[in-house]
Amino acid sequence: MARAGGDKRGSSGDRKRRREWLVSAESGFGGNGSEVPCYWECGRMLNVWIVEADRIVPGGSYRRDNIVPACRPCNLARSDNAFLTVDQIAERVAATTAKRGSLVPALAG
Ligand SMILES: [Zn+2]
Repeated sequence: MARAGGDKRGSSGDRKRRREWLVSAESGFGGNGSEVPCYWECGRMLNVWIVEADRIVPGGSYRRDNIVPACRPCNLARSDNAFLTVDQIAERVAATTAKRGSLVPALAG
């Protein structure tokens, strides 16, 4: 059923290759091949295991022109509103973190 690349989320192999691309220098997001900063300027550094492919246009394609590297809290903060500014994303993440404790303890600080 799954096909390589294209608009769908794809197989686990596709997703891994997508994450590897996001942290690569080639993708242009400031990565060095092992880590990349979260696109939403929260300061978190993301390796290939935790980086998420955040879609610029929600529900849109997972093609490379529609994805940016994001941490889970920022990705979740944008999940119902793709037009949030960096500051608004940070506010949402802070509010969520204050409510539940750190979502991602390993990344705190
Ligand atoms: Zn982030």
